Amino acid sequence: MKIESLLELYIGQLQDLYDAERQIIKAMPIMIEASTSDDLQDALEEHLEISQEQAARLEKIFEKLGEDPTGQKCKGMEGLINEGIEELNKQTPKDVKDAAIIAAAQRVEHYEIAGYGTAYKYATLLNHPESAELLQRTLEEEREADRTLDEIAEQINLQAEQMEESDDPPNDAQVSEGEEKSEGGRAA
Ligand code: FE
Ligand code: ZN
Ligand code: FE
Repeated sequence: MKIESLLELYIGQLQDLYDAERQIIKAMPIMIEASTSDDLQDALEEHLEISQEQAARLEKIFEKLGEDPTGQKCKGMEGLINEGIEELNKQTPKDVKDAAIIAAAQRVEHYEIAGYGTAYKYATLLNHPESAELLQRTLEEEREADRTLDEIAEQINLQAEQMEESDDPPNDAQVSEGEEKSEGGRAA
């Protein structure tokens, strides 16, 4: 397939993003199910809802363009999701698994930030201000999701690290295996 213009490139990029969102919407319930931290589950559930709105926003943009949103397979997102699922299928202590879910989710967010950042710039250049506005809104939501995951990771990575150091427990809170840890019990 030949791409003759920035407009065609833009449409292809939007189709890629649309397929990426649809893959995310399908995969997210698996990530939510596998995560044990309430904060992480809440964040993923919230982002699942937001992802549905983001896909609807792309449909709106395609309607204005008079183009079909489907037709492109996002192999990048497919790869990221497959790597994440592989990680879930490994036997790991729960905090380590939560850390792995965050690692996978942040890769997804960064991929989307790159895609939406580019699409937003193209929409601006092509003088499609309404679409640019929608893409900017999504871009900001992806950044926000990434920041939220950063915050959650601070606590979970610490818990995951402490699990591995059972010979050398932290002096302020001894965490024994199998014991329920209180939510937010340790300040990050
Ligand atoms: Fe998204
Ligand atoms: Zn792609
Ligand atoms: Fe996202």
